Amino acid sequence: MANRGLLVVVSGFAGTGKGTIMKKLISEYENYALSVSMTTRAPRPGEENGREYFFVTKEQFEEKIAKDGLIEHACYVGNYYGTPRDYVEQKLEEGKDVVLEIELQGALSVKERFPDSVLVFVLPPSATELKARLVGRGTETMEVIEKRMKRAVEESEFIERYDYILVNDDVDRCTKQLHEMLQAAHQTPKLHEGFIRRLQEELKEITAN
Ligand code: 5GP
Repeated sequence: MANRGLLVVVSGFAGTGKGTIMKKLISEYENYALSVSMTTRAPRPGEENGREYFFVTKEQFEEKIAKDGLIEHACYVGNYYGTPRDYVEQKLEEGKDVVLEIELQGALSVKERFPDSVLVFVLPPSATELKARLVGRGTETMEVIEKRMKRAVEESEFIERYDYILVNDDVDRCTKQLHEMLQAAHQTPKLHEGFIRRLQEELKEITAN
């Protein structure tokens, strides 16, 4: 049977390009599964139910919480967002590394509940660059951009609670580095306790006489 996969959490300020990195990671490497979250926010143009999110009503979301069907959930800008449990469990069992792209509160609660999960914070090379990217996207008003920058100030206080940082100066380089990071994370002793115990026993046996 395949080893159980890693639960990977990716967060980052709005405008750091984490979505692009995730898409690239999934398309270029085989061993990843991207979790599709459930949300009560309305779909944006071009978004499809079941692809970007499962779009549900507040009642449906609360029912899911009551049934313990989410591994974490958070309220973000007035809407619920949460990670459905079944898909994550199934893919981890299959040996896939499951990637959650979620905000800070959700990320920290995943770490609390699943201490072996790997938390990655995607950062811009500088604050100036972040602002330039948000302005350059041209999809938000200056007021929204200011709000997002203020939020980045708050979120930046939590960077050190994550296991790894990823500075997005180049999408290709960053995607490769994320993959390498996760490959390395598979090799932590905690994930190989059985093998280590067996080796320890064998060493004792072999040196016993
Ligand atoms: P958006 O509405 O722009 O798609 O997402 C808003 C924020 O919610 C982003 O920071 C995104 O990473 C986060 N998010 C998306 N899905 C989930 C989830 O399942 N749980 C939590 N805690 N945050 C999520």
